[in-house]
This record gives sequence, C-alpha cells and structure tokens, in this order.
Amino acid sequence: DVYGPNRRNSAGLDLSVKADRDRLAAHVAELDKLTLSAGPLVGGKLTAGAPPMPVQSPTDHGRVVGVVSEAQLPQIDQAFRLARAAQPAWDQAGGPARAEVLHAMGDALEANIERLCAILSREAGKTLPDAIAEVREAVDFCRYYAKLAQEQFGLAGEVLTGPVGEANSLRLAGRGVFVCISPWNFPLAIFTGQIAAALAAGNAVLAKPAEQTPLIAMEAVKLYHAAGLDHRLLALLPGRGETVGAALTAHEGLDGVAFTGGTDTAWRINQTLAQRQGPIVPFIAETGGLNGMFVDTTAQREQVIDDVILSAFGSAGQRCSALRLLFLPHDTAEHVIEGLKGAMDALVLGDPAQAVTDVGPVIDADAKAALDQHLVRLNREAKVLHQLTAPETGTFFAPVLAEIPTADFLEREVFGPVLHVVRYRPEDLEQVAGALAARRYGLTLGVHSRIESFAADVQRLVPAGNCYVNRSMTGAVVGVQPFGGEGLSGTGPKAGGPHALMRYAVERALSINI
Ligand code: GLU
Repeated sequence: DVYGPNRRNSAGLDLSVKADRDRLAAHVAELDKLTLSAGPLVGGKLTAGAPPMPVQSPTDHGRVVGVVSEAQLPQIDQAFRLARAAQPAWDQAGGPARAEVLHAMGDALEANIERLCAILSREAGKTLPDAIAEVREAVDFCRYYAKLAQEQFGLAGEVLTGPVGEANSLRLAGRGVFVCISPWNFPLAIFTGQIAAALAAGNAVLAKPAEQTPLIAMEAVKLYHAAGLDHRLLALLPGRGETVGAALTAHEGLDGVAFTGGTDTAWRINQTLAQRQGPIVPFIAETGGLNGMFVDTTAQREQVIDDVILSAFGSAGQRCSALRLLFLPHDTAEHVIEGLKGAMDALVLGDPAQAVTDVGPVIDADAKAALDQHLVRLNREAKVLHQLTAPETGTFFAPVLAEIPTADFLEREVFGPVLHVVRYRPEDLEQVAGALAARRYGLTLGVHSRIESFAADVQRLVPAGNCYVNRSMTGAVVGVQPFGGEGLSGTGPKAGGPHALMRYAVERALSINI
C-alpha cells in the first residue's frame, strides 16, 4: 500500500560505516580516471550532436568529468516520431505493467548507488550525504509512482454508481508525449522523478537535463533502458534552454511539459505553450521560493540553530526549498545570531567528495557571479553579520549571514548560501509576515515555537506548499512530505504525493446502456 505502514523509503548508504565510505571513495577515484560522455540518445542510440563540449567539475575547473554534445533539431524530430509510435502500446499495457519497469528502475538505481554518488559529487558538486539522499529520492520516486500507477491506472477504471440499466466508469490514460525539463540542483532525483511520473501515467518522454549536468542524466536514461523500458519511450536531449529547451517546448508534437527550474524560465515556457494553435497542453511547473522561517521567544535556541544551519547552508543553499529569510523576535535575536555565527564557523567547506565536507561549491561561474553581486548589495544597503572564507579553486561561495530591514529588500530568489535575518516585534507579526506573503512565492515555510497558535498564525499569514514546524525545512521525503508550492513557486501537483500523476493523464468516462 502506497500510504500505509508497509511502505518503505530507500535506505541508501551509511557514511558512519567505514565499508560504505570506502566503497564511495573507490568509486570517486575510479571516476577520476574516466572521461564520461553524454549526447542525444534517441531510440537507444547515441547519435552525434553538436561538437562535444567539456563538462567541468564546479569543485575544480581543471577537472573535466566528461564531454557533452548538444541535441540538434533533426534528433528532436526523430525523438518525437519514435515516442509517438511507441506510446499507445505503453499506455494500453496499463499501470501494473508499467509499475514493473519502474520497480526495476528503482532497483537499478540502488544497485549503482556508489557510482551515481561519485558522478553527482564530481559533476554537480554534491556532498556525499546530499548525493546519497538524492539517489534515495530517485529510487523512492520510481517506487512510489509505480504504486500509484498500479492503484490508479488499472485498465478497467473506477466503477461509478448511476441509474439502473447503465454501467458507468472513469479511467485515467496517458496524454501522449511529455517533455521533461529538469534542474542541475537535483540532477538525478528530479530528472528521474519527472520521467517516472510521466511514464507511470502512460506517456512517452523526451527529457532535457540542465545544461550543467548531462552526465548523470545520461546514466539515468541508460538505467531506465536497462530496466526494460522500450528505448523509444525515453529520449535524452541534452543542451541549453535557449536552444534545445526552446525547440522542445515549441514543438507541435508535445502533449505536456513538466518543468522544474527558475520562475523566469517557467514564464517563458508558459508563453510558448500559450501561442500553440494545436491541442491545449498541461504545464506542470515547480519553480523558486523565497522561504521564511518564523521564530518566537518560546523557541528552543539550540534546535533553531541546528535547523537554520541545515536549511540555509545545506546543499550550499542550492535548493528551492532552502531557508532565505529568518524572522527573529527582537528580544532573543542577538542570542540566536551569536549562536548561528558559531555554528557557521564549524562548517567545513571544500571538496564535496570528502566525507567531512558540509558545504561544496555553487554550480558554476554564473551562479557565483550572481551571489557575489548580491553580496555587494548587502554590504552597501544592508548589514553583513558574518561570512566564512571560500576555497580558491572552482566556484565556491562562502556562506553569508546578513541582516535586512524587511522582506521587501529581496525582490527575487537568491539561490545560494545566503541567509537574511529580519528582526521583528511580536505585535508587528501580521505586517512582517504580510510583506513576505506579498512577494507571492509559496514554497516552504518554517516555524519554531512552543505555542501552537503562533504556528497557526504564521501559516494563515504566509501561504506555502510545505510548512515545517520545529524542524528543518528542506529534504522533503517522497510519500511523507509531498513537495511543491503555489503562486510564483509552481503549479502543482506535488511531487511524491498521492495526486502527483493526475496532470500527466487524461480522464475518460464511459457509460454503457445495458
Ligand atoms: N525537494 C527538495 C527539498 O525538499 C527541493 C527540490 C528543489 O530544490 O527543487 O529540499
């Protein structure tokens, strides 16, 4: 049962066990001797795209992890043709048959966890705990959506009661060919999860990974094929958003788009889809956040400090769920800030493939430049309270703690390890929280308080898809914390939740006079 006590999430590896650490280290060392390659994989064949470009590690630009060649228009057309041809049989096979392939994919990911973690660490700069969590999440998506396919996509459909002499039923079916566009910050979990959802619902998929992380995507597609998926049902089309992403979303052959990434890109895709003359297709978008945590004077200080450090600086702040604005009451703010500075000093920055590292690099030079620019503004117009020092190699950006006057100071999401503190007076809660809600994002929300009515007030004042009380606010677990926001943060349905497959499907009602 998907929801019940027998459902288990993937266990992953345990970094406190020496054998697990050693196996990971051996895989990283092995990977360092190789040059991986990715390119357009259409009908199971790797075809030559644009001239190959190096994929550098964000940790150390001297380290080339592999090469990637961008997909070209004829390959995109070919991928749509093959997907269109193969999709009806996949849809008609029914949810239970599709679930088998997804379960096999979950097992394949688990069997390759060390290698996948090594690639995640080198290509995306993931720390080992983050890499392990990411593989586990990818496995969970496959298994969870397999169960949903089994339960919700039976061939007979759901019987509905109606007048005597009539048999009525409602069933779900795939829409056709889905384009899935995924981000570099979860280049395996979100990449695999979007594809698993679309496949589970009976669709074929054309997948475009983020341009920074094609190599891990290539591994995932190969594993899907090895798990028994008809090669025509999943094509990999690597490349930039402006070229490959634009060609895919403007293509007349698509029946739906699933996208996770920045709000600006979501607007662009939405506009492209709005200009279509053909069938009106769904757009599933999961975008950015401007996430706040509200602390009151009853909160447990040590727990606040731990949860804030993890939520703001874990994954180098490169999660859309990450904490960006910490609201502290005047009376205890100074005490909490001092504790945060101490906890920041204990963070280890460096090579994410080392088990001791807490904070790895940011993804690329553009990301670092945007953060550097934001830091200039913080120094000029606000107050920087604390900053660590970053390693010289690659694209590291050292965690920053800053104080800003109100949420209005931030116009948009700042994607990296920068935490903004706002001090407030309890009697001003409504106004302070209102300023955050007025930004119109709605992804995650944190509360630290021992008073239930405080948590309820904050939830009423700041709409958000995922609210976390007295704990950290990142790392939603599939089937446990269905993940996704509202407003500028996305359209839903929530990933890893019971309704996740609905927009990937059409509903067909049948009435028979008997
Ligand atoms: N699901 C992730 C979390 O709960 C965030 C996904 C994202 O950053 O896109 O932290």
